Amino acid sequence: MQKQKKLSLAMQIFIGLALGIVAGLIFMLTGKAEWAESYIRPFGTIFLNLLKFIVVPIVLTSIIAGVISMSDIRKVGSIGWKTVVYYMCTTAFAVVIGLILANVFKGTFHVLQTSGLEYEAADSVSFMDTLVNIFPSNFIQPMADATMLQVIVIALFFGFGIIVAGEKGKALAKGINSLADVSMAVMTMILKLSPFGVFCLITPVVAVNGPEILGSLAMVLLAAYIAYIIHAVVVYSTTVRTLGGVSPLKFFKGMAPAMIMGFSSASSVGTLPLNLECAEKLGARRDVASFVLPLGATINMDGTAIYQGVCAIFIATCYGVNLTLGQMVTIVLTATLASIGTAGVPGAGMVMLAMVLQSVGLPVEGIALVAGVDRIFDMGRTTVNITGDAACSIIISRLESKKEAKKAK
Ligand code: ASP
Repeated sequence: MQKQKKLSLAMQIFIGLALGIVAGLIFMLTGKAEWAESYIRPFGTIFLNLLKFIVVPIVLTSIIAGVISMSDIRKVGSIGWKTVVYYMCTTAFAVVIGLILANVFKGTFHVLQTSGLEYEAADSVSFMDTLVNIFPSNFIQPMADATMLQVIVIALFFGFGIIVAGEKGKALAKGINSLADVSMAVMTMILKLSPFGVFCLITPVVAVNGPEILGSLAMVLLAAYIAYIIHAVVVYSTTVRTLGGVSPLKFFKGMAPAMIMGFSSASSVGTLPLNLECAEKLGARRDVASFVLPLGATINMDGTAIYQGVCAIFIATCYGVNLTLGQMVTIVLTATLASIGTAGVPGAGMVMLAMVLQSVGLPVEGIALVAGVDRIFDMGRTTVNITGDAACSIIISRLESKKEAKKAK
């Protein structure tokens, strides 16, 4: 009886979001936005810190445990290439949707003054640098900095090391498995705070971003959000249904807690623990999800790609530039690559927008036009980013299980 009355975590998170929006509006209307900033945001930050702190042990131990349980290097390879293909294809598709929507909305964009804009672009990282940066030169640093790709590489090496060491590796395998269980337990404790965390993250965002800040950018935001929704509904629904065997309705319902978390935190890495839990509940296998999700939180950014497509068109419009079809193809390619290089933390996508603009000769200062509302773009794009990761983990899990069942026959 008692149990039935208890609200599910998903519902609690949803209530946290709703209350946070109401509280944010109250702070905004009473002119006390800075209170929300000074006294509520810090608790949101504490919650995000806790999530980030548990992410590294979770990723490290669950990937090692996954590799040990697979005990086959080919299997990791097979999961790896399928994951990367899914990620790249959906991301390229995302930019195309973003570009189409932005072109449809172009006539409604409020053209902003571009004189006197200033924006300092960060040094762009070449493809070769990105490749080199995947491999750690130190054992501790990647974990201290939560550099996910490097943590994944360390975990893969140690996983295979344990297998190769055979009998001598058994003790470590046992320890890692135990540490993986303990990390999961710690994560569950932290996730219990999600409703409160979501409340504290969203309140200051609503309080600070009053309606006037949206103003002239309302149509660009609308174009981006429609593209986010179309991408999620069309691409994830179809792939999850056809390849993952999960109905879209069940998928989005099951993903709601992680999506709300992504929306309020604007951080794929911070959402990772909750995303793991949601994906597993929807049928993703632990050994697959623990590899596919952290990888996705680092390299798969469909929402970011959409945002980059939309903003590139908007900025071009403000500078009176009409992009050619060839330039749009260039945007698809660079935005796909840029989203791989985007870290799963708030605001990272905007920094990478510079690379996309540069690729078609648009002035980087144009970023200043959209910088003021980046958080609002970011909430939507992160939600799409993490949903894409989860869809992939469910699909790959099913494909792997099918393959194994075939082999066993
Ligand atoms: N905040 C996004 C994420 O964590 C990255 C971005 O800024 O586009 O997925």
